[in-house]
Amino acid sequence: MSTEEEVLRVMKKLDKMISSENFDDAMDALRQLQSLPITLHVLNKTRVGMTVNSLRKSSKDEQIIALAKSLIKGWKKLLTPADSSKKSSSSSKESSSASGGGGGGESSGAKDVDMPAAEDRGKTSVARFPPAAPPTGDAVRLKCREMLYNALRADTPPEGSGDPEDLAERLEAAIFDEFKSTNPKYKNRIRSRVANLKDSKNANLRINYLTGMITPERLAKMAPEEMASDEMKALRDKLNKESINDAQLASVQGTQTDLLKCGKCGKRNVTYNQIQTRSADEPMTTFCMCNECGHRWKFC
Ligand SMILES: [Zn+2]
Repeated sequence: MSTEEEVLRVMKKLDKMISSENFDDAMDALRQLQSLPITLHVLNKTRVGMTVNSLRKSSKDEQIIALAKSLIKGWKKLLTPADSSKKSSSSSKESSSASGGGGGGESSGAKDVDMPAAEDRGKTSVARFPPAAPPTGDAVRLKCREMLYNALRADTPPEGSGDPEDLAERLEAAIFDEFKSTNPKYKNRIRSRVANLKDSKNANLRINYLTGMITPERLAKMAPEEMASDEMKALRDKLNKESINDAQLASVQGTQTDLLKCGKCGKRNVTYNQIQTRSADEPMTTFCMCNECGHRWKFC
């Protein structure tokens, strides 16, 4: 059995424990995970970090919480490049969440995750691309994720498309993050995203979102007129026309990562470069190139 399969098997057990709130075998399961040679690839593929984090949050047992935390901490190191100078910010974040933990405040939901969350993306280190949106067991939220997924998926996805399921989850999580509940405002927001993403006369919105020209956080907050705007068309045209400048790419040494997946061949052997294309206070543009098939794309 491969590590990936073994991890999935343990995750199934953990999911069962979380839903039944019976954590008798949790230590065994966590120790099993501890003994497995979990790589970044397995981490991304299985999203086991999310499951262990949910277990940590639902259990009241200190031993379980401590072991879950130490596993997550170890995995986080895989997600952060060794030469990262941003150590201080991540460790201070950790200590603040540790000191605030155990207060019984389970309500903060999406915000309270130990793995890099979606909002970290806008910062600088591409190697910390979030593995996924935090999982949810809420039926309404799951339904909303499904609706968004159905609006996003297509028979022929545009070139450089991200995973529609992942993008649907992140969009839902960004919307939930704003309202902190599945109230009518949340539902309206979801409904208007679904309608606009499905609108065949406004295909630019869907394409721009799928190809990473718009972030989940931005789409979560867009007004309807913005979603159907000329700007969406302009972004789309820009993606089509603007070929990536080779000289620019050559001038900066790229960083190789297996966190990014090629939209064309599906392999995870990508070199990326970050370049400031507009004013300094705008986020950097990330140019990506697949080392397997040469496919190129970019993120804003
Ligand atoms: Zn490729």
